[in-house]
Amino acid sequence: MTGTSDGFMQDAYSRIHASVSSNSTAPLPSTLPQPAQLHHARASLPSPAGDGDGATAYPYLQGRGRQATVEHLLDDIAPALNGQNRSSRYWGFVTGAVLPVAEVADNLVSAHDQNVQVHLPGQTIATEVEDAALRMLLDVLRLGPAVGWSGRTFTTGATASNILGLACGREDILSARVSAAGYTEKTASELGILAACLRAGVKEIRVLTSMGHSSLSKAASIVGLGSANVHELAHSADEPWRLDLDAVQSELQQDGVACIVALSAGEVNTGRFATQGLEDMKRLRQMADQYGAWIHVDGAFGIFARALPDTDEFSRLHQTAAGLELADSITVDGHKLLNVPYDCGVFFTRQASVLTRVCRNPNAAYLSSEAAEIQSPLNVGLENSRRFRALPAYAVLLSEGREGLAGMFARMVRLARGIAEVVRESPDYLLLPDWQGQEYGGAGLGDTHICVLFRAKEDSLNDVLVETINATGSWYVSGTKWKGQKAVRVAVANWRINVTEDLELVRRSLASIAEEHKTAKSNS
Ligand SMILES: *Cc1c(COP(=O)(O)O)cnc(C)c1O
Repeated sequence: MTGTSDGFMQDAYSRIHASVSSNSTAPLPSTLPQPAQLHHARASLPSPAGDGDGATAYPYLQGRGRQATVEHLLDDIAPALNGQNRSSRYWGFVTGAVLPVAEVADNLVSAHDQNVQVHLPGQTIATEVEDAALRMLLDVLRLGPAVGWSGRTFTTGATASNILGLACGREDILSARVSAAGYTEKTASELGILAACLRAGVKEIRVLTSMGHSSLSKAASIVGLGSANVHELAHSADEPWRLDLDAVQSELQQDGVACIVALSAGEVNTGRFATQGLEDMKRLRQMADQYGAWIHVDGAFGIFARALPDTDEFSRLHQTAAGLELADSITVDGHKLLNVPYDCGVFFTRQASVLTRVCRNPNAAYLSSEAAEIQSPLNVGLENSRRFRALPAYAVLLSEGREGLAGMFARMVRLARGIAEVVRESPDYLLLPDWQGQEYGGAGLGDTHICVLFRAKEDSLNDVLVETINATGSWYVSGTKWKGQKAVRVAVANWRINVTEDLELVRRSLASIAEEHKTAKSNS
């Protein structure tokens, strides 16, 4: 029943792979489930109201056996998944696909089920593989030497990394104030926020941001800062993703207020950055040092702009993303642009000591590692027991190398810019953000990373545009709002894209959607 030598797993894996065909670039129609498939899957879910034969109190909990279960998974459940990894044109949310080498590594992770909790160099190489991947990623992102990022760990995703970022910020800015007030025996993580604030005379902790991702508010709530203390300091109504540095300065100067600056890099609708480059970051660093603030960068997908090829084509993005290495902590997503499976994120911070003060398991000397070089993951992250989620990221970094990754990211940007151009050339659509009466502010597309935002000029089309695009079954987008109006957001984060073919399809699709809408309107 539980043996693996009888071909059960081999057979199941080959059926999974046949159904996913992970090397093809299937267009969406074959992958988005039909309503009937969703209905069928829903009806197939076990329910206590089942046959009611009275043989047992819970007939639906009678084991079906593994073979029947696998049939159920493959025949009922799998066809009702949205197929995001099976399509090259699933551009909703910011959804990466899975590179084949990452999928192989992920299967190895499950097969070995290595717990990566304690650094045990005499027993397993796992923590060293994690650290090798983190170091490679630092270099790919050009963040400077690994010694400067002594706090580093794999997380479950950008939300978890943002939680760590705010927790570290909280620990650092409060502990410095507690200690300055003469209480040196305990830090904020030991005292708790309430006692720390009382001792340090802090009345409020604020998170300063510009169009911070929704997970930032969640993180502020979880770490006890309060989601209502996330303050939006937009540079202007036209460029709300930009952080108003003058406003930051006046917040930092306030008595009794301690601040964490959380930079959107980039912002999830537009892909644009809170700071405009090295000069902004230098000014922020100087202010943070002067007033005891913490700088956290939410670079979930945007930070990968730093890994693009060093050519004129991407020079605007390189300029804009410059200086982010001056932050105290950085969030990176693996399961988006790096194209590894869920759940994979990364957290970097300058000071390992701050991170261990937040995450340390006390009174567990037997768990501490001999070598200080590599931290035991349980003392630098949210979980104790954890999956070897570093391995797929390690495999991608190793297999693609810096150039391979730069090439993959470049293709994503080229497709996004191509779509932006299609929108801009069309008489029926408006490329966003728009300001001063001009789409995209009249600027070139050099600031376009992997997100494209647009709407239909005709309001009645705009109302149904997202649904209409998705109903074509050939590409998939997300709906969002820009300046109070419905808008379409395309986010390209998938290694399977084919820039030329995809662009042609989007061009034809957008034109025919506008045409059909005009015809329908004039007929009604
Ligand atoms: C996606 C995203 C998040 C949340 O990431 P998860 O990996 O879904 O937890 C946070 N910030 C930004 C900027 C994002 O794009």
